[in-house]
Amino acid sequence: MSKHLALLLALLGVLSVDSMSTAEVPRSQVVLCIHGGTAAARKEMTPELEKQLRTDLDRALAAGFEKLQQPSGTSLDAVEAAIRILEDSPHFNAGKGAVFTHEGRNELDASIMEGKTRRAGAVAGVTVIRNPITAARAVMEKSKHVLLIGRGAETFAKQAELEIVDPKYFWTEQRWNQIQEVWKKEGRAPEDPAKESTRAPAHLWGSRQLGTVGAVAVDRAGNLAAGTSTGGMNNKMSGRVGDSPIIGAGTYADNEACAVSATGHGEFFIRYVVAHDIAALVKYKGLTVEAAAAEVVQRKLKAAGGEGGVIVLDAKGNFAMSYNSEGLYRGSVTGGGERKVLLYSE
Ligand code: ASP
Repeated sequence: MSKHLALLLALLGVLSVDSMSTAEVPRSQVVLCIHGGTAAARKEMTPELEKQLRTDLDRALAAGFEKLQQPSGTSLDAVEAAIRILEDSPHFNAGKGAVFTHEGRNELDASIMEGKTRRAGAVAGVTVIRNPITAARAVMEKSKHVLLIGRGAETFAKQAELEIVDPKYFWTEQRWNQIQEVWKKEGRAPEDPAKESTRAPAHLWGSRQLGTVGAVAVDRAGNLAAGTSTGGMNNKMSGRVGDSPIIGAGTYADNEACAVSATGHGEFFIRYVVAHDIAALVKYKGLTVEAAAAEVVQRKLKAAGGEGGVIVLDAKGNFAMSYNSEGLYRGSVTGGGERKVLLYSE
């Protein structure tokens, strides 16, 4: 539509000012991809859970895409908005619905990064911040630091006037049952979480429910952003920090390479510096996002026994979603607004 026609329609009240201004900007390269973690075994999936997962992933895509459509909406806005929806959903291992530590608490990690400036922010081991992704963004935008942990991060979040909740807010029956199963195997009375053992043996990680959430986006200005948020791994030791808040491991964004958000067995993702490794393959070796993701996830991680997956997006809007697990909850929305949600290899 020409500027003059749009202006005329706006004057006549046919178009809102917003849609007039967005109509003038090419949106074709706008893309948002999300993940909700590696999938539960297909045989454990119920039609009801599948429906809930699909609904919430779709809502997250819609919320993020709406930001990308606003005249001043950025990829950071889209990533944060999409992740907040998934943090608030009890069906993912982030925010409400996070897994429990060995001691029966929820300790949350999140990070966010901007591809244009390579500014980044993260929080780890937080217990009362309703939306850790928003806290990560506040660390990036309102502090001199990249990563704040525990009490310091929570004090900072309060000062930034973010929503603070009682730790009980994060509790869900499903996750509580999962940690109780582990306690039963360990011979520890469920009602006695204080009887601590100092180690959480790897074989007792049990059904890990790797349901971390993440998003990558490119906006109309061609700027990339990536973010990741998680409750970590079921039965993790108190104080354990995974890859999700580690810039370069679980999250990375560089306009000259790509944006990456990861999910999976965090210790491997830290040791293999997964998100940065993928970006480096794109930037220095000229690999496509698809080839770079496959190289790291299907070859390096798989050979090492590191289960998980990534979503990767470059500034031209090419994206890849690669996983070496049975499935990856994931979705994408591109310029035209078509939203797609997948759970397994469909
Ligand atoms: N990567 C997360 C962590 O290790 C877990 C996950 O992705 O589900 O903390």
